Amino acid sequence: MTPQAKIEILQHLIQIPSVNDHEAQVADYIASLFEPYPQAKVEKVTYAPGRDNLVVTIGNAGPQLGLCGHMDVVAAGDEGAWQHAPFAGEIVGDQLFGRGASDMKSGLAAIVITLLEFLEQGTQLPGSIRLLATVGEETGEYGAAQLTAAGYADDLAGLIIAEPSGLDNVVYTARGVIDYKVVSTGKAVHSAQPEKGINAIDNLMKFYNAVGPVMAKYTQTDPVLGGLLHNVDLISGGEQVNSIPAQAELMANMRTIPAYPNQVIYDDLEALIAQLNQEPGVQLDLSYSYPEEAIPGDPHAPLVQLAKQVSDQVCGHDTQIVGSGGANDGAEFLQAKSDFTSIEIGPGSNTSHQVDEYVSIKEYLQAIEVYEALSLAFLKKAAQPEQVHD
Ligand SMILES: [Zn+2]
Repeated sequence: MTPQAKIEILQHLIQIPSVNDHEAQVADYIASLFEPYPQAKVEKVTYAPGRDNLVVTIGNAGPQLGLCGHMDVVAAGDEGAWQHAPFAGEIVGDQLFGRGASDMKSGLAAIVITLLEFLEQGTQLPGSIRLLATVGEETGEYGAAQLTAAGYADDLAGLIIAEPSGLDNVVYTARGVIDYKVVSTGKAVHSAQPEKGINAIDNLMKFYNAVGPVMAKYTQTDPVLGGLLHNVDLISGGEQVNSIPAQAELMANMRTIPAYPNQVIYDDLEALIAQLNQEPGVQLDLSYSYPEEAIPGDPHAPLVQLAKQVSDQVCGHDTQIVGSGGANDGAEFLQAKSDFTSIEIGPGSNTSHQVDEYVSIKEYLQAIEVYEALSLAFLKKAAQPEQVHD
């Protein structure tokens, strides 16, 4: 495929405004690129109307490598603040602009082209490659959760997520996430007779004041990721100034580390809620949205080391082996039956989720080279029986 054709595929992907939905248009477009190759197995897995995950499998018997990218992007925000229209795919010099140029339609295009070039060149793979293109990564990784539950990750020997780490970084460990909400229900009465009502805000504050000390006992620090993070980021309550509030709620965001499985934290939060609910009048309800486990990872795993070697060779830089403060689809896929390593390496800039998001075209084209060489190297290594040393 010519560099021009590769750039046009990325521009086309950016021109589909898949802002946390409409991923089916992206999936349809990618599926159409595989039409000339009947040997590729193309499967659409519908999450909701207009929202399809896409799975494309190519190759032969042997180990299977997953290449993963999400098809949704975050909103463009105030489009007037952009110098380059967010859904145009405009090019200036080496920069290609648009929402998703960095996070992560460049990575997605690069893994799609990796499969297309193997098909075009008739490469005999020592195993198979599975493209996992997901919906809803930015809003809860539920596309990846759906594909995992349906068994699409059960045969993986390794997984590469093309998120925008920059090709000079391989991410092998990542924080998990717990977003939780506490709703306090009280009883509204006129504020001249507070004794007849139940103040939902007062009761919510009991939780707010008690949760800090509970979180403070998680003192362990991960050498790469740091400590556990807990922040109450949203709070609201009350109806009007002369009524005792019947309703109040807060939301908190936690960034977890591998030392603390999410269940340990759920147990603590639930115990605190149960304890407070013993007090007269207190009614607190706890819920979670799309929690993700932290990824412990192993910096010495073959996939991590190969990714560094290949990226060093292709790009001529010294690739760093690092951790990530954010969760990715890998946290879901790792819940599958098989035991494998999940890494993040992909093209992108530090403009993800910002106005005038862009990717370097040079880095985008290098990413395709990296994925092709890394896929072949990994499958070859995984297909060989373990070397025995005396
Ligand atoms: Zn992303």
